[in-house]
Amino acid sequence: MKLAGRMSRIGTESAFEVLRRARALEAQGRSIIHLEIGEPDFPTPKHIIEAGKAALDQGFTHYGPTQGLPELRAVIASYVSRTREIEVSPDRVTVAPGGKPMMFFPMLALLEAGDEAIYPNPGFPIYESMIRFCCATPVPYRSLFDLNYTKITSQTRLIVLNSPQNPTGSVIPAEQIRALAELVRGRDILILSDEIYSRIWFGEKPLSIASLPGMLEKTIILDGFSKTYAMTGWRLGYAVLPQWLVEPVNLLVVNSTSCTASFTQRAGIAALEGPQDEVDRMVTEFRRRRDAFCAGLNSLPGFRCPIPEGAFYVFPDITGTGRTSNELADALLNEAGVAALSGAAFGENGEGYLRFSIANSFENLMDAVERIRAFLK
Ligand code: PLP
Repeated sequence: MKLAGRMSRIGTESAFEVLRRARALEAQGRSIIHLEIGEPDFPTPKHIIEAGKAALDQGFTHYGPTQGLPELRAVIASYVSRTREIEVSPDRVTVAPGGKPMMFFPMLALLEAGDEAIYPNPGFPIYESMIRFCCATPVPYRSLFDLNYTKITSQTRLIVLNSPQNPTGSVIPAEQIRALAELVRGRDILILSDEIYSRIWFGEKPLSIASLPGMLEKTIILDGFSKTYAMTGWRLGYAVLPQWLVEPVNLLVVNSTSCTASFTQRAGIAALEGPQDEVDRMVTEFRRRRDAFCAGLNSLPGFRCPIPEGAFYVFPDITGTGRTSNELADALLNEAGVAALSGAAFGENGEGYLRFSIANSFENLMDAVERIRAFLK
């Protein structure tokens, strides 16, 4: 049997592949420091787990509404309104099993052959994968500085923003967000604003483009619980959509997942309404690790490491080592016992970089620096 042609256009996320290889080495008795996977190393806060358990006991074990439980959508609408300083109504919120489906569904609903979609490169690999899968043309940008009139054409339908960003940890400066809003105003272009790291930042609060006048109508806000509340395995995310896109996206949900697990959604209410001190503690700890780990990497020959402003990734330039990203990532895994991702896994502009996740203990991060130092000697 042959696969459908569309399967030749779909990409993947190599973090899961590197994790598999790292686990295989561990099974042979090797010691590996895991800095490859993008999930907080903290447990889900206890009150959220208790709410999930209580929901199971209360019978939230059946199908729910496609768009999400109304009580969760109301809480999300109020949370997004508060954090983005805009007025969002619950009927614009669609809940999904993770943030990722809210890349997949809106792109499926919007893009087709002949369309162009502008996306960050280096960037989360699923953007380019999905744009290609939908038969549209991916148009990469390195940073918003080079996202100007030259990239926007009459075919442009979608622009993807991701701030704080995976893999670079950068936060898009507010003035660049404002300049982009001016560029797209009056044009038939939507913004997919991936704000999954919206609560994990260390300097200036990231500005959502949806907060700017008139931009809510032109923006899909993607956010979720995976990173903020260490809930990656619960599978819970959402999008705030322009009103006309809600029904098309819901149709795609009906045709695929039907709905998101009901008890998981009840836990989501507890996450947004409950105490936020564990989120604050996690961010403080990420900052401590970031400072020490970047200082460590900057002391290594051939490494140049900018200080990330958000998310929990560090993205050093490793061209000074004389190796390609793939070569160095492979060698660090196999010879130094440090699992990191090749920058090339985030697009061709990621060549020359490695991505380290700092979602591991302070001690392990320091140990990783020494392992890399010994390896480079
Ligand atoms: N967006 C970005 C930029 C991410 O890095 C990730 C996860 O790694 C996601 C979205 C997906 O999050 P979720 O696990 O909620 O699907």
